Amino acid sequence: MNRILLIIVLLSTGLTFSQQTSVVDFKRAQAEISFGDLLAKEVKGVVAYEFDVLKDVDSVFLDAQNFENITAILDENLEVGDYNGKQLIIKNAFKANTSHKLEITWETSPKKALYFIDWEYLGGNRQIWTQGQGKYTSNWLPSFDDMTEKVEFDLSITFDKAYEVIANGKLINKIISGEKATWEFDMRKPMSSYLVAFAIGKYVKKTTLSRNGVPLDMYYYPNEDGKFEPTYRHTQRIFDFLQKEIGVPYPWQNYKQVPVKDFLYAGMENTSATIFSDAFLIDETAFIDKNYVNVNAHELAHQWFGDLVTETSGTHHWLQEGFATYYALLAEREVFGEDYYQYKLYEYAQELLDQDKAGRSTALLDPKSSSTTFYKKGAWVLTLLYDKVGEKDFKKGVKNYLDKYQFKNVETNDFISEIEASSGKNLSDFVDVWLKSEKFHYEIIETYLRKNFKGYKAFLKLDCQASKVNCQEFLESSENPYINTEVIRQLEGNVPKSVFNLKSIKERQAIAQSVSTIPSGMRIDYESLLQDKSYATIEAALYNLWSNFPNDNKLYLKQTKGVEGFNDKNVRILWLTLALITEDFEPENNTRYFEELTEYTSPKYGFEIRQNAFAYLNQIRACKAACQKNLKQAETHHNWQFSKFAKQLLQAE
Ligand SMILES: [Zn+2]
Repeated sequence: MNRILLIIVLLSTGLTFSQQTSVVDFKRAQAEISFGDLLAKEVKGVVAYEFDVLKDVDSVFLDAQNFENITAILDENLEVGDYNGKQLIIKNAFKANTSHKLEITWETSPKKALYFIDWEYLGGNRQIWTQGQGKYTSNWLPSFDDMTEKVEFDLSITFDKAYEVIANGKLINKIISGEKATWEFDMRKPMSSYLVAFAIGKYVKKTTLSRNGVPLDMYYYPNEDGKFEPTYRHTQRIFDFLQKEIGVPYPWQNYKQVPVKDFLYAGMENTSATIFSDAFLIDETAFIDKNYVNVNAHELAHQWFGDLVTETSGTHHWLQEGFATYYALLAEREVFGEDYYQYKLYEYAQELLDQDKAGRSTALLDPKSSSTTFYKKGAWVLTLLYDKVGEKDFKKGVKNYLDKYQFKNVETNDFISEIEASSGKNLSDFVDVWLKSEKFHYEIIETYLRKNFKGYKAFLKLDCQASKVNCQEFLESSENPYINTEVIRQLEGNVPKSVFNLKSIKERQAIAQSVSTIPSGMRIDYESLLQDKSYATIEAALYNLWSNFPNDNKLYLKQTKGVEGFNDKNVRILWLTLALITEDFEPENNTRYFEELTEYTSPKYGFEIRQNAFAYLNQIRACKAACQKNLKQAETHHNWQFSKFAKQLLQAE
């Protein structure tokens, strides 16, 4: 079971606009956003753009995808604009060195980039939120699909005053008028359009200050007070750490983090306002398996690498994702320690090796590379570069790079040149091997692991398939819990009883997840896994005990009754399923359990819960009328992975 959300990024190419940015410079946008019929997903607005003309030109244009109504006024008196369904073209004899104001009024019902959640249901979690990267902000706001056009966007949003509205920048005013309120936000610096964002929902927040006084606003749902601390644990520490490690102060006025329902990715680094999946709103027990620390640090690192300096095109995507992955890992080292950090780097290398073995390795500078390449190869390249030039020159180069290109766009050479300048080293061989070459040089990484990571020398030599004994003996003496976890997995169930002497919760989890046939001599130890403070362990142990010892399976159900599990209710949904198929288990409650399980397929629940419920109901052939209806609805869900899952399930029937 892989519980990691895929962060998939579609890349934009903006050829036409790369041309426009050399003749026109859009400086500032003041956008007033309001809404019409929420069931029809209607959004409307007025945006006033200020722009400078750099060279004589007879037209300028903005992106506006599939708008219903759109009109424009130039310099407060001239009605202008041809609209072709994709772009608004303003024809006028613009003279070099003049400044203009363009006011655009529009109405639309966007099919993507702006999402309306649960407005058709009672009892759901009603929200409206944006996702610009890969989807184009120009679906709801006339703006620029090209990342190289950076504008200071100030949003002003009017909505029902019972809700909270969160957007880029600092909230400078909230004006209440009758049942509505208008929230006015102020940005001081420019950003690319894909980073413009807002979220509307029922939220409360807590604020803390970073060491240098930046306000960190952390939002959560009002009825989930207990999840605040585990979710945002280490937030301030991560923030202070990254500022120090990167060597350049956080570039924006404030920082907000907002969880939303049914998000498309794990998180999105909108400038000063990260939006993340509410699957990361977690309780104390979930922290061990599914905490927000990595995503928290990753999106924060993007505030420099992506938001402050932005790639010119997809060729240089690693300058965003490789850097965010690298700095997130350093933040995790700060929080979870050296052993954890080393193990994650090892894991990234294995994922890259698997990709290589499958013949899917690409050059880091190939814009069609996989996320694995952009994120994990990118992080490894920075790790090796740091090793090559040393801490002092690496940090100096990064700082110079950020200072020089702040609020601008960058290419890979811009970064490499700064490291060459700070270190005095010629990096062309390094660039050939790690950035331009399609080949994945695992041998160099393995040498690095052996040389720098104590404990990996013996571990890397192990081959559990060739010799189980060697691996079993390794476990007797190794004290690195992360490596042990890996060895337990590689033993595929052939573990000695003595593994239960291993103490850490992750080692025990590896036992629960890899030992599916439980030897009777191991039974008592194995049963103790049900008491572990890990929902992933409980889920695996419950299922394995239930199927290995049918005479006692009611006992295991009684012990785990009432455990909900992660936000996707992994334990509860498994429990309900097992309760339904266990002979003579609480027959009086059978109908109630079936109804509860079916209820979890309904749209008022997050797609992760629904997906679990559909999968289990399907397995026991109990997806009846209500479940079928919800499955049909799921086919049209905005999350493509979930809708694909629903389609496949319907086809399989
Ligand atoms: Zn990212």
